[in-house]
Amino acid sequence: MPPLLVLPATLVGLCLGSFVTTAALRSAHGEQALAGRSHCDGCGVSLGFARTTPVLAYVALRGVCADCGARIDPLHLAGEVAGGLIVGLAFYIAPCTRVAPLAALGLLLLASAVYDAKTRKLPDLLTFAVAALGAVLDAEQSMATLWLGLVAAAIALVLLEGLRRAFLWARRKPGLGFGDVKLVAALAVWLGLATPWAVVLASVLALGLALRRPSTDGRLAFGPWLAIGAFSAGMIREAHLWPALS
Ligand SMILES: [Zn+2]
Repeated sequence: MPPLLVLPATLVGLCLGSFVTTAALRSAHGEQALAGRSHCDGCGVSLGFARTTPVLAYVALRGVCADCGARIDPLHLAGEVAGGLIVGLAFYIAPCTRVAPLAALGLLLLASAVYDAKTRKLPDLLTFAVAALGAVLDAEQSMATLWLGLVAAAIALVLLEGLRRAFLWARRKPGLGFGDVKLVAALAVWLGLATPWAVVLASVLALGLALRRPSTDGRLAFGPWLAIGAFSAGMIREAHLWPALS
């Protein structure tokens, strides 16, 4: 794609990231995800255009509502930055036929990550959409790539579900959620041979956080780390920086 398009694409990505994060947070709070005006979670006041400007509004308000002083969830800022990175990188790295499915896949992962961070659940609908976009990206390359992706997904599903059940049987408590297993399998459709690296990267990131800030109940939402690990590994592969796995 022409380099001149990367900056406007990143700006659009910031707005899309804001929209996706707000929808996921609303859904996690049991609200209508896509309807209604943006409002403060603390006092409910409607937010005008200036107060919904991605990144700038959060920075200008120093992360608190101007009306009630309630803390604005920092996931809003993180989601906006992530949206900018996802769409900007897709435009920077990919040929034009792959930009839209890659950006959409990244934004779906962002929605899953935000929802999981709040609820420790990964919605099946988003996971299914990730698998479908992975299949579209594979088919754009070749039918052999699509078959490889489907085989990788089946292997990931069997291996990780076996591991999850073995852990549950041995320790009598869940080590890995079934939602995580399904998301890895869905990502494997796109990632193919790079899937193990995505899981390793996600595990290292999650472990790093768990060591720095242990959660009070010993549980951890793995979805956000899986999303970051998988999108990073996938984009490195898309950029052909990983010749053995391209
Ligand atoms: Zn407020």
